[in-house]
Amino acid sequence: MIPQANPGAGYRALKAEIDDAVSRALASGWYILGTEIRAFEAEFAAWLGVSNAIGCGNGTDAIALALRGLGVGPGCTVVTVSHTAVATVAAIEMTGATPLLIDIDPVFYTMDPAALQAVLQDPPAGLPPIKAVVPVHLYGQPADLDRIVPLCRAHGVALIEDCAQAHGARLHGQRVGTFGDAATFSFYPTKNLGALGDGGAVATNNPALAEKIGALRQYGWHKHYISDEVGVNSRLDEIQAAILRAKLPHLDAQNARRRDIAAAFTEVLTGHPLAAPRQRQDVDHVFHLYVTRSARRDRFQAALREAGVGTGIHYPVPVHLQPAYAGRVALGPSGCPETEAAAKEILSLPIYPELSDADVAAIRAALTLLRND
Ligand SMILES: *Cc1c(COP(=O)(O)O)cnc(C)c1O
Repeated sequence: MIPQANPGAGYRALKAEIDDAVSRALASGWYILGTEIRAFEAEFAAWLGVSNAIGCGNGTDAIALALRGLGVGPGCTVVTVSHTAVATVAAIEMTGATPLLIDIDPVFYTMDPAALQAVLQDPPAGLPPIKAVVPVHLYGQPADLDRIVPLCRAHGVALIEDCAQAHGARLHGQRVGTFGDAATFSFYPTKNLGALGDGGAVATNNPALAEKIGALRQYGWHKHYISDEVGVNSRLDEIQAAILRAKLPHLDAQNARRRDIAAAFTEVLTGHPLAAPRQRQDVDHVFHLYVTRSARRDRFQAALREAGVGTGIHYPVPVHLQPAYAGRVALGPSGCPETEAAAKEILSLPIYPELSDADVAAIRAALTLLRND
């Protein structure tokens, strides 16, 4: 079976470099907030093209820390999409703010700017004021920032890009994570840049915000043992930072490999009942996931499983319909019909840089056999 994701293959592909990095971190005798994380933060910020990156415990904490750093908390509403990892919404609730979930556009699966405009112009009654917007660059594709950035500026609300699935993606040649007030990354093992454990980061071009988030991630300490504000413990450890330093120099080439695999799949899916994903104009998509679509999704999933091809569904239940969140989170005036329709039809094929040419050929052959299904 070709698995839909394979973080172990990602380790084996760079085993010597990763093992060296882990040994170096272990031998250093310093395991939390030391030289490895400082070096990783500088290298990641330089690679992304921002002044500051702040490592933290995971991508969920990164969103919560960025929001808190920007002054978002109880008495604030934060707009995001329902078609995302539940983490995006969990992070908003961690700050005490109220999530307001809006719909996606049905072609690219990212935040619908018209729905954003509607709630910014005419906020739903009974909610605290909207203070921030969190678009998600889902599946590795930039959200429609051409329309979202001006809307946030015009309404004076903060913009935090959730880049957990889009390390290295570009819009008009500019990397995502450099458009908003802050951007957040996850280094969960299956992400395009994955640690071998949990990890996350906030990126920003605002040094004062970086300083604040750096304090919030460690008990609100600006100086050791003195909490100037109430913080949390969300640190990226030295071993994970060392692993990320070993992997970062390979990321752009790995994203290029993902794009080549995606192109090979798209070629066989032209005119196929399982529809290929579509790309916005002038983007570099990084294909964290390769998400196809069909009204007969479940049949294709079963047939691919029989052919030895693992698949996934990202995500099967929109956040606003999940047991913990149904009736709890606020929705925009038109609800989330495109989100609900997509959840029933999407299917993620295997995609990661370590897929061999033989694996790609086998997946293409399995898809070709289903062409007349
Ligand atoms: C993975 C992910 C997160 C959360 O990251 P963790 O490191 O698992 O906390 C947040 N948002 C999106 C869109 C994600 O895919």
